[in-house]
Amino acid sequence: MKYSQFIKATAIASALFATFATNANEVLKVGSEATFPPFEFIGADGVPTGFDIELITALAQKAGYEVEINNMGFDSLVPALITSQSDVAIAGMTITEERAKKVAFTTPYYKSTLSILINKNDKDTIKSKDDLKGKKLCAQIGTTGAMTAEELSPGNVATYNGAPEAFMELKIGSCSAIVNDRPVNLYFLAKETSDQILELNDRIGDDSYGIAVNKNNTELLDKLNTDRNPVD
Ligand code: GLN
Repeated sequence: MKYSQFIKATAIASALFATFATNANEVLKVGSEATFPPFEFIGADGVPTGFDIELITALAQKAGYEVEINNMGFDSLVPALITSQSDVAIAGMTITEERAKKVAFTTPYYKSTLSILINKNDKDTIKSKDDLKGKKLCAQIGTTGAMTAEELSPGNVATYNGAPEAFMELKIGSCSAIVNDRPVNLYFLAKETSDQILELNDRIGDDSYGIAVNKNNTELLDKLNTDRNPVD
C-alpha cells in the first residue's frame, strides 16, 4: 500500500470509527402521543406504531441512533423538549408560530388541515362551521383543533387527553362537534361502524407537520433534515 493510500484508508477508518463511537447505541428519546391514528397509535403488541413512529425510527437509524418512544400527553411534548426529557417530539405536530418560539422544527414532512365532525342528529342545524357558535365542542387538549374550536364557539370547548375520547363524547351526543386534524378524522370515520358521525365540508387551515427538537440542538435538527425532501 502506498503511503497516500495508507493515509486515505486511515482517514476513512477513523471517520467511520468517529461515527461509530459517537452514535453507536446512542438512544434518541422520542416523545409522542399515541392516540392519533394513523400517525401514532398503540399497535396490537401494545407498542406505539404508525406513520410518525416509522418515520422517526427510519431517520434515527440513518443517523445512527436507536429510538426510545415515550408516550405522553400532547401538551407535555414541548415542555419535555425544553427540559431535555425528550430529544425529539413527533406527533402530527403542526408547525405554529407559538410553538416555534419554544422549540425548533424540521422542514415539514406532511401537509394537513383541520375538519369538523358532527353528530348526525344535528345535521339540520349544523351545516357549516358558522353554525357552531354557542354549541358545545370537543377537542384534544393543547392542539390546533382545540384552539380553532375556541375561536368557533368561545367558552364552550371541552378538551380531552386523547382524540378517541373526544370522538366518544361526540358519538354519545355530549358535544355537538369535534375539531381535529382531517386525516385522523377520516381514519376514525373509516373505522367507525355506526353511521352516527358526519364530516362537514369546511377545511380549516393549511397545516404542516414538523418534527420538533430543543432549540439548542441544531446538530440533531440538521441530521433529521438531511436526505429528506420536505413537502411544499
Ligand atoms: N396537528 C395538531 C396540532 O399540532 C394535532 C396534533 C395531535 O393531536 N397529535 O396541534
